[in-house]
Amino acid sequence: MKIAILSRNPKLYSTMRLVEAAQARGHQVRVLDVLRCYMNITSHNPSIHYRGEDLTGFDAVIPRIGASVTFYGTAVLRQFEMMNVFPLNESVAISRSRDKLRSIQLLARKGIGLPVTGFAHNPDDIEDLISQVGGAPLVIKLLQGTQGIGVVLAETHNAAESVIQAFMGLNANIMVQEFIKEAGGSDIRCLVIGDKVVASMKRQASTCEFRSNLHRGGTATLIRLTPEERSTAVRAARIMGLNVCGVDLLRSNHGPVIMEVNSSPGLKGIEATSDKDIADMIIQFIEKRFETMETAKDKSPTRTRTRGKG
Ligand code: ADP
Repeated sequence: MKIAILSRNPKLYSTMRLVEAAQARGHQVRVLDVLRCYMNITSHNPSIHYRGEDLTGFDAVIPRIGASVTFYGTAVLRQFEMMNVFPLNESVAISRSRDKLRSIQLLARKGIGLPVTGFAHNPDDIEDLISQVGGAPLVIKLLQGTQGIGVVLAETHNAAESVIQAFMGLNANIMVQEFIKEAGGSDIRCLVIGDKVVASMKRQASTCEFRSNLHRGGTATLIRLTPEERSTAVRAARIMGLNVCGVDLLRSNHGPVIMEVNSSPGLKGIEATSDKDIADMIIQFIEKRFETMETAKDKSPTRTRTRGKG
């Protein structure tokens, strides 16, 4: 197969591992800087260009689109989709998962466990917002934040009120969430491929910190998931429409609750902790899906007719 990886930096661990794994399985692979791809959006002959070259002949594309380039990145991915290139994750699913509020609304609709979460616009509603999530301590999250930046623990009612007021004053979109104290500063990352959790790890926040992100100094260890956690992670991935993703959940008194579903999960921490070749599993998944797609095309009446004529 000929595989494109959309990544801004070919030297990133995850990108390098995917290149290695694809090559090891005999595929041709090329890393493309998504911001250098440009497109010609015509109905009959959509095309993508790269530094003056016409990109053709790709069978599959692996999007590794950073949060800061979601808009442009998903547009490029959509163009690949228009050219019938199989996307590991579809552009629409990536856009959906990048919107924290939209994601939890979708998950809530399907009955997935979530921390009690509130969202409001007007400062006059702050009091009620705080009481709806059960009062302080509570967590305030900037919708645009990633890697734990913009996630604040307000320990008292007054602190919660002033932080929410400050964010609203800056016109920032925030959600207010029940603090899951019993998680003890740890969360669980489940790596989902297709309909399976293929690896999982527990991330523990450093002392004096409640955010367990590895970027915030958290440490990772192997963990055994309960069947409920496993099925919650797989269902969350399916609801978001993602084939491959990292589902983060917390162990709460009311069962597993989802923090977020990440459409470009980093491979470094999870490969090191689980000692599994996740990159290889991803490439194998692409091979299987691609094969199924090709078989379906062969069986389609148009293809049969064309072949019959030829
Ligand atoms: P980001 O997308 O920036 O990583 P998250 O919503 O995943 O933001 O929050 C970062 C970390 O903060 C989580 O992994 C978790 O450890 C902690 N955290 C977030 N929300 C809560 C909460 N409601 N209760 C307890 N801990 C939380």
